[in-house]
Amino acid sequence: MDKRVIIIGSGLGGLTCGYILAKNGYRVTLLEQNTQFGGCLQNFTRRGAKFETGMHYIGSMGEGEVLRSFFNYLALLPDVRVRALDRAAYDIISIAGERFPLANGDEPFVETLARRFPRERQHLREYVRVINEVAAGSPLHSLQYVDSMTFLELSHVKRSASEFIDATITDGLLRQVLVGNLPLYAGVKGRTPLYIHAFVNHFYNAGAYRVVGGSDVIARSLVTSIRALGGEARAGARVVKISCDATRATGVTLATGEELRCDYLVSNTHPLRTLELLDTPLIRRSYRERVAGLKNSISNFTLYLHFKKDALPYLNSNLYHYDLPDVWGAGDYDPAAWPGSFLYMHLCSSVDQRYADTAIVMAYMRFEEVARWRGTRVGRRGEEYEAFKRDRAERLLEALERQYPGTRANVEHYYASTPLTYLDYTGTEEGAMYGILRDCTEPSQGVISQRTRVPNLFQVGQNINSHGILGVIIGAIITAGELLGVNEIIKQIKRAR
Ligand SMILES: Cc1cc2nc3c(=O)[nH]c(=O)nc-3n(C[C@H](O)[C@H](O)[C@H](O)COP(=O)(O)OP(=O)(O)OC[C@H]3O[C@@H](n4cnc5c(N)ncnc54)[C@H](O)[C@@H]3O)c2cc1C
Repeated sequence: MDKRVIIIGSGLGGLTCGYILAKNGYRVTLLEQNTQFGGCLQNFTRRGAKFETGMHYIGSMGEGEVLRSFFNYLALLPDVRVRALDRAAYDIISIAGERFPLANGDEPFVETLARRFPRERQHLREYVRVINEVAAGSPLHSLQYVDSMTFLELSHVKRSASEFIDATITDGLLRQVLVGNLPLYAGVKGRTPLYIHAFVNHFYNAGAYRVVGGSDVIARSLVTSIRALGGEARAGARVVKISCDATRATGVTLATGEELRCDYLVSNTHPLRTLELLDTPLIRRSYRERVAGLKNSISNFTLYLHFKKDALPYLNSNLYHYDLPDVWGAGDYDPAAWPGSFLYMHLCSSVDQRYADTAIVMAYMRFEEVARWRGTRVGRRGEEYEAFKRDRAERLLEALERQYPGTRANVEHYYASTPLTYLDYTGTEEGAMYGILRDCTEPSQGVISQRTRVPNLFQVGQNINSHGILGVIIGAIITAGELLGVNEIIKQIKRAR
């Protein structure tokens, strides 16, 4: 076979799709605008300290579990080392002055929470049963062959996670605890579909892990594999135009003016960015208007902490803290009372780490707070923006200090990023953490097809299927399946096990 595929963007979706197609004989050219591959998998290093930016923990990496099967197929296992988070408390939900550990495994999960909420034991069992049923109902999560391109049970798409939890759990505080890790999916009350909540919680409840040394190893490994399979991966290659003739896409133009031709194109950018690259009557105005009108998920402000050496014990759990009466309301914060909630985690630099080297503290931030600096460039946004960042960083540090007194004194340096940083580094509209918002009240609003009206142009990434390491890999299988057949890829994954 000598079919050439160009992939625009090297986020996890572009890399996974590139790997699958290269492995199956396509000539892949991966084009990344940044100097570093990976999109949200990028890491950065300052004064010798390394920080992850958009992939902090993963799940289901145990023997026979779904992510491990995908990593095996993608030849990632030899390169990616993981360290399990505390199985008795992989996440800790801090709310109403109490801390609630989430434990791995169905029974430990139920029993740990039932100790505090004894009357809810049966309700918790029912909660876990439904979560497992929803996850098992997706053929691609359980590596089953598919007989149609519908991958999700409609009732789970149309039912909201909050309605399901309210109907299953009686205790108001426990309802909050069960959605305490909702920044993992940017949940919105009454809108986030049950399937999103179920996939995420099922995925991490099986087992939760940090990637030792930083999640950028995933991107580096996939790039190396794509090259070894005869593909090309170019960083600093920004695509500024997709060319089409009357019926199909013919190639791309780079910012340097270089033109490249191809048989197939896959875009890993936010759908709005893809449309900006296209000037063809094949794309209808109604489609452009629909995509322009789609709501995006919320963004975040991140504080990157570099600690003094051997000063703070390594925390092998993630802390989700709320100073709010309603966890679901975290995204509707009042800027004057920000942060209101945050997620704190130590990054893992070795399997037997005893002291924390670095950490991140993330808090929701709406794009409107930084919109006035849109169009400015990284490092040149001006003193007002720097002052805004300093103020928010100090507020977040104070909130953290209240939870872990003494932390601040051990911070050697800190850095911060805003929604603008994500917009600039990934192209994701409004710096949205997880791309387009999924909304069960308008199921079609969040559904972006891997197909476009340009028959040989496909889309991949967190806007297809779902976000996160699992959602994006499954989405990439769906996209690569347009050329290879989804069942053929599933067969290869099963055979590799
Ligand atoms: C703060 C944060 C924390 C997260 N934490 C986790 C986590 O702990 N676990 C988890 O599983 N998931 C996490 N996620 C989600 C996960 O990182 C994403 O869902 C996933 O990585 C997105 O992959 P993607 O393929 O959609 O591409 P993206 O990562 O969005 O990458 C798109 C790429 O396309 C490139 N590009 C855009 N336009 C062009 C162009 N014109 N020419 C060339 N290249 C272009 C961009 O530079 C970028 O590299 C997190 C996300 C965020 C933002």
